[in-house]
Amino acid sequence: MPRPIQAFVHPDAVRDNLQVVRQRAPKSRVWAVVKANAYGHGIERIYPALEAADGIALLDLNEAVRVRQLGWKKPVLLLEGIFTHSDVKIAEEIGLTVAIHCEEQRELIASTKPTKPIDIYLKMNSGMNRLAFTPEQYREAWERALASPGVGTITLMSHFANADEGEVDWQLNRFDAITHGMPGDRSLSNSAATLWHTRAHRNWIRPGIVLYGGSPSGRARDVADVQVRASMTLSSEIIGTQTMRAGETVGYARTFTAERDIRIGVVACGYADGYPRHAPSGTPVSVDGVLTRTAGRVSMDMLTVDLTPCPHAGIGSKVELWGQHVKIDDVAASSGTIGYELMCALAPRVPVSVTA
Ligand SMILES: *Cc1c(COP(=O)(O)O)cnc(C)c1O
Repeated sequence: MPRPIQAFVHPDAVRDNLQVVRQRAPKSRVWAVVKANAYGHGIERIYPALEAADGIALLDLNEAVRVRQLGWKKPVLLLEGIFTHSDVKIAEEIGLTVAIHCEEQRELIASTKPTKPIDIYLKMNSGMNRLAFTPEQYREAWERALASPGVGTITLMSHFANADEGEVDWQLNRFDAITHGMPGDRSLSNSAATLWHTRAHRNWIRPGIVLYGGSPSGRARDVADVQVRASMTLSSEIIGTQTMRAGETVGYARTFTAERDIRIGVVACGYADGYPRHAPSGTPVSVDGVLTRTAGRVSMDMLTVDLTPCPHAGIGSKVELWGQHVKIDDVAASSGTIGYELMCALAPRVPVSVTA
């Protein structure tokens, strides 16, 4: 028998979350963002749930190839665009739409001379200051793209820096001022802007995390009013128990001291499974459906939990590390990170099943 740890991926949740997203932005078409292997879920596992999307967005060319091999006929968008001539050839061959964030990428397309023009997303750096053309460079970049051989339709694109903390207007106003009068579709909104900034929806939204039931802000309460469901469950079992006397400690570095006599459960899940080692004592976890907390350091293959609220729990009791009852965002917040990172960091050694 393998260790009892297991992850479950729920395509039905993704399908339902996609509907929720559509209702939030009824006039927009939807790029379902599945980069990083569908935020750690496995593209193949959630693929059947994406039928209703208008396109699939990702940034690894190999993932784009996989999506085409699965039979996806609708658009596929490469969010970081192409890096080499051979990328352009593949993009042409399998019909990809590519983001263009610098002149070098446009030149790559032009010099590869694709026979079928490649549709592009011309990206403006409206304030994120990672990739893309500055507002000052943008019109010229657009004119060059218009005149460029090998370039098909041009969609005007940008990305928000803090849509989750309430502010997009400063970027949106810059974007609108520069793109005023330019023909073509617009695409700006990630999950946060999709949920919280209707004005930014435009022609194509690009939701990622919300499709997986996570909160773009990293706070579970921020999506409490949105009917999204977690699409990943990480579960395991209790494989041992200890009774600690008041004053005793558990685990490495002795970070948790029992204030009174308590029972501790040992769970087959550690940081080598993708559970964050930074999760301090008190991180939420459920045992036999009862909410409790971790106690002590997370080790490589095990972690320990307080069994006080579940006195009948013992070896074989079911543990949910995150999923329907324990919000991944709460585990992440406790550990100083965001749900995105925990999803993406699910370790390859954890067996994954697809369930409803
Ligand atoms: C990842 C990504 C998104 C989706 O972001 P979420 O916060 O997961 O919704 C949208 N647009 C671009 C360019 C991205 O890289």
